[in-house]
Amino acid sequence: VERVFSGVQPTGNLHLGNYLGAIQRFVEMQKSHQCIYCVVDQHAITLWQDPKSLASAIREVTAAFLAAGIDPKAHIVFNQSQVAEHAELAWVFNCVARMGWLNRMTQFKEKAGKDKEAASVGLFAYPTLMAADILVYRATHVPVGEDQKQHLELARDIAAKFNNDFGDSIAANGFNGGFFPLPEPLIQGAATRVMSLRDGSKKMSKSDPSDLSRINMTDDADTIAAKIRKARTDPEPLPSEEEGLKGRPEADNLVSIFAALAGRTVAEVLAEFGGGQFSTFKTALADLTVAKISPITAEMKRLMADPGHIDAVLAEGSDRARAIAAPIMASVKDIVGFIRAK
Ligand code: ATP
Ligand code: MG
Repeated sequence: VERVFSGVQPTGNLHLGNYLGAIQRFVEMQKSHQCIYCVVDQHAITLWQDPKSLASAIREVTAAFLAAGIDPKAHIVFNQSQVAEHAELAWVFNCVARMGWLNRMTQFKEKAGKDKEAASVGLFAYPTLMAADILVYRATHVPVGEDQKQHLELARDIAAKFNNDFGDSIAANGFNGGFFPLPEPLIQGAATRVMSLRDGSKKMSKSDPSDLSRINMTDDADTIAAKIRKARTDPEPLPSEEEGLKGRPEADNLVSIFAALAGRTVAEVLAEFGGGQFSTFKTALADLTVAKISPITAEMKRLMADPGHIDAVLAEGSDRARAIAAPIMASVKDIVGFIRAK
């Protein structure tokens, strides 16, 4: 079966990039696939998190999933730390992946900053846990933003090396053609890399110290409009053709956001707004963003008022996730040669 897995970290400030690059597409995938969506709290602590804020951020990401239209009954919504198999498989993958592979990961370089010696071991090993998140369900498709492409390639390398290193044992345990699928990244659409509103060369991110750099999922209509009005642009009018966006990262970003929110192509958006002033386009973009985001924000607020309900959704989702992961992890143990109670 084709199975979708993806995750979002509860690290605060959920933003428009997370929505367009990930959550909006999670919602679409439900029509065609069995989907497992995870609040990856174990990834979050690769950088220190205040415990109270972490718990509330876990609920907030869950609320965003539900408010955006993810159905926790038809699919699975849960938080990573409730399913121990993720961490168990990650250990095996730590022993499959090579130091050299992880040394090439650009996210580690960015997040560790200058003092690599002071970074947590978890931050370095992040991609092996991510590979385990996906493969502990033998998931085949992973919708993510462009920034996760390198980690997905690593997950494929880990799956292939496991299949190869344990090939004989995999066959002896009755699995033909390898044990893990090579998971495919789904990086599609107009806004796979939403950029900062203040700097067209940086991705919109939860951790940017400038709140003006991003549209938060919890921003109200006035804040959204003000941030878009203040978004950096260049002095030229909008081009009429896509070619004209080359070398204009800020314009490209705003047009791409419009296209992704409207479900239209960049060419269609430029056909309407090309030649016009940014001010006109920005007003239309603000209206569209508010129309799309505000109902989700309102529903998130409503859900956040009942943390008990959110916790119950996560507990039930975790039970259903574990039911899939446990037999897969048991097979991994048999394949590796561990002894387990039968
Ligand atoms: P952090 O800074 O804590 O890593 P983040 O904004 O990168 O936060 P993640 O939880 O790491 O958020 O990623 C969740 C999903 O959102 C991933 O699929 C990621 O690719 C996607 N994503 C993150 N930032 C963007 C962006 N600017 N544009 C499009 N997709 C994004
Ligand atoms: Mg990230």
